[in-house]
Amino acid sequence: MYQYIDVHTHKTASENIFEIINSKNIEEKGYFSVGIHPWRIGTSEPDYSKIYELANKPNILAIGEIGIDRSINTNIELQKQVFLKQLQLAKEINLPVIIHCVRAYSDFQQIINSYPYTYIFHGFNANLTIANYFISNGGYLSFGKQLLTNKKLQNAFKELSVYNIFFETDENDISIKDIYIFAAKLLNISLSELQEMIQSNFKKVFGIDVRKLAK
Ligand SMILES: [Zn+2]
Repeated sequence: MYQYIDVHTHKTASENIFEIINSKNIEEKGYFSVGIHPWRIGTSEPDYSKIYELANKPNILAIGEIGIDRSINTNIELQKQVFLKQLQLAKEINLPVIIHCVRAYSDFQQIINSYPYTYIFHGFNANLTIANYFISNGGYLSFGKQLLTNKKLQNAFKELSVYNIFFETDENDISIKDIYIFAAKLLNISLSELQEMIQSNFKKVFGIDVRKLAK
């Protein structure tokens, strides 16, 4: 049985982890997300045909990571355009979106308002006000490496609705189990209670009950 859910990673880990892998190489086995990352946009609107083609495969669970990154030089209007196009695709095929958001939380406060949808903000590291804004608009927040070391983030995390959280390893050499253990301590609940919460959050968003899945 899967004990842990890693909602966003770029590599495959061990057996008892249900993971959504962000990769160009979509294999038969495993679960994936596909999307054009803001870093890969370049200077003009990209070709979406590959994303369209892949998105309909049964083991694609999300469109992502997609979003806005204000730390790179790529034109912001172009980034928004590419993001919205992929959001549209996600809506058409009814998949949640995994959001890459760097220094663009205020952009997303507007976007989530104008385009209500199931957004999962991966690598969330903003403050409690922003967290609650996203959550009250139906968003989900995924926490990874930063939660282990960032005190402010830890304090915000303790105040959040646990019905809107996920965990992830992203590109980091950390184990999802360690993040779960750490988070359970912060919330002052047992590891198994946390596992159950995340499983039910996952079922709510992705319609998959990982407890019933055969590996
Ligand atoms: Zn990532």
